[in-house]
Amino acid sequence: MDIRKSLEDIELQTLSPAACFSSRSQGRKFPSESCTMRTVFQHDRDRILHSKAFRRLKDKTQVFLSPEGDHYRTRLTHTLEVSQVARTISRALRLNEDLTEAISLGHDLGHTPFGHVGERVLNELAPGGFHHVRQSLRVVDILEKNGRGLNLTYEVRDGILKHSKGQGGLLTPDSQSCAQTLEGQVVRLADIIAYVSHDLDDAIRGHVINVADIPKDISDVVGLRHSCRIDRMVRDLISESIAADYGQIRLSAEMDGAIRALRSWLFEHVYRAESVQLEFDKASHLLHELYHYLCDREEIFLKYGGRRFAGDSLEVSVADFIAGMTDRFALSLYRDCFLPQPWKSI
Ligand code: MG
Repeated sequence: MDIRKSLEDIELQTLSPAACFSSRSQGRKFPSESCTMRTVFQHDRDRILHSKAFRRLKDKTQVFLSPEGDHYRTRLTHTLEVSQVARTISRALRLNEDLTEAISLGHDLGHTPFGHVGERVLNELAPGGFHHVRQSLRVVDILEKNGRGLNLTYEVRDGILKHSKGQGGLLTPDSQSCAQTLEGQVVRLADIIAYVSHDLDDAIRGHVINVADIPKDISDVVGLRHSCRIDRMVRDLISESIAADYGQIRLSAEMDGAIRALRSWLFEHVYRAESVQLEFDKASHLLHELYHYLCDREEIFLKYGGRRFAGDSLEVSVADFIAGMTDRFALSLYRDCFLPQPWKSI
């Protein structure tokens, strides 16, 4: 019995005509045998979830560096919150929830240790620069499975590559920067819906800001509590997209403006806050030192698990290695490389 075939038929019968049907996927770069139990997008989701890069997300900074408190977000819990938001939206709009989930789980695989400070350092040092989006694609295309990659479908790769907004528009109409599938566009918005709300929540938990500091014109639209904010943003997106006849992913002008204003406010009052920046400066110094140290000592790079894949210079491979580190691994490697170790024999 071919379960995949019947799952593909259910998609054709139940999803919106604007959805991306797994039976019509543009396929993988390297043809491989189809699973008899799962659609291609379910298969991609599972490949991502079982990858080593996915497991390392548990110990990578979201906003607060290696937090001691158990309730702060990490890159892994951020990813899971994006997936929840994106799946709720996808199901409501009768889009392909499996594709949405696969893109969500893979979107941040390329993030460095210590959050955006790691990205800035590698962008400065690595040959050709560095951006976490390109790195996420590099992880799934090449770095996982010892240089063989995960061989994902075109639609999942496209969604991963186009999830990032930087500080630009939430959804831009040009096809260069906007995902080709509505599912990819859902993840792009689910990402910002999740992070503006949970970063605010964590900043209040960490006493960087108080609830009362949030500008009233923003909180009046998005709400004051985390659950209320997520609920209002998701409802707005779903109702606006339904009003667009399910053919377009949209937010109301009011909600779009409030989310952008909240993102700018977070940059000023949280991401660039002096108390947060102090530790980031130390992390930046640590990553600079590690990069140069490993580029000068290939044997140490290899000893600690670094790998060079076909045609890559040592500098590119060191950048890949550092980008893949958890905060904990980077701190431990720095201690090993730069601090004197006690003699272990008694
Ligand atoms: Mg993200």
